[in-house]
Amino acid sequence: MPKVLHQRARCIGCNLCFEIWPLRWRMSHIDGKCTLVNGTEKKGIWQVIISEDEVPYNQKVALACPLKIITIIK
Ligand code: SF4
Repeated sequence: MPKVLHQRARCIGCNLCFEIWPLRWRMSHIDGKCTLVNGTEKKGIWQVIISEDEVPYNQKVALACPLKIITIIK
């Protein structure tokens, strides 16, 4: 199953991921960074397994992220 990885600590809260795919990305009101919906953290990397159908949306997000801190593993 495909996976999304997010280096959340480096996020600058630009909002792009949320604008592109709000079903998977939310902005935190606590620290202003984005949050990977249903993600779990392991050694500083947030990750979640996604369906094949969701891959293109997250690929678009990964391309748009100015810091390139989102990776899709297929
Ligand atoms: S697009 Fe990148 S930098 Fe912008 S809020 Fe999302 S993860 Fe953070």
